[in-house]
Amino acid sequence: MQPKNTPISDQISFPVGATDSHFHLLEIERHGIDPVFLLKKLADHGFGFGLEIAIDEKNFIQRVELAEPYPALYLTAGVHPSASASSELDLTKTMTELAQQFEHPKVRAAGEMGIDLYRNYSSLEKQRELFVAQLRLASEHQLPVVIHNRNADLEVLEALTENPPAAGGIMHCFSSDSSFAHACLELGMYISFAGNLSFRKAEALRTLVSELPHDRILVETDSPYMTPHPFRGKTNHPGRIGLTLAVLAELLQLTAEATADLTTRNLHRLLQLA
Ligand SMILES: [Zn+2]
Repeated sequence: MQPKNTPISDQISFPVGATDSHFHLLEIERHGIDPVFLLKKLADHGFGFGLEIAIDEKNFIQRVELAEPYPALYLTAGVHPSASASSELDLTKTMTELAQQFEHPKVRAAGEMGIDLYRNYSSLEKQRELFVAQLRLASEHQLPVVIHNRNADLEVLEALTENPPAAGGIMHCFSSDSSFAHACLELGMYISFAGNLSFRKAEALRTLVSELPHDRILVETDSPYMTPHPFRGKTNHPGRIGLTLAVLAELLQLTAEATADLTTRNLHRLLQLA
């Protein structure tokens, strides 16, 4: 397939070895960027890769094939809360399939899973059922969990407290307050910041960064979504991770290189690669 959109090479900028804890290659493709071309360009720029995130159990083989040429590109397996709305969802069948995917050597975490009361995909009860089933399965397989939380701090915290993740995990695209962040840290979770850290109104989030232990901080693009300033409205991709790293570096009073190194070491520790 030919790359469908404008050249992305000039939009790729990050310190060598930078990692992205959360991106969706098939969604990026749906937004017009050829993932094979993108991954090649990222590798040429010395990208440290990171975690390619599932939204459901489908397309697993395609995701594995994309990741195969890149040893530092790892996958999750899991089901996003949006799938809880589907009348086709068969929880037992889905969990059996996820258990098989968890055995693949490329799969180093489970998710993304969680609760979303912003879009209200389905009832809280249905979302919680899907979430808790995955939390338990991930712990059985000693895999860290990747958590999606939108307007559901209380509900997510309750589920995590009742089903503590045995191998820790990631609070993806963190946008909650300080007390929630500390409760998550207590549960062994890492806090991952996305492009919204650069948004003008994110003052409270930027203040929170200075309160966190450095060894629990991660960075992500959540691409193709959450495009950081000044590219808001454009399709996001992992090559833009440098923008969020730069904001994070300033808040941590580190260089961008040291921040990339820190977040890469944190991700590797969580994924038991180091
Ligand atoms: Zn995501």
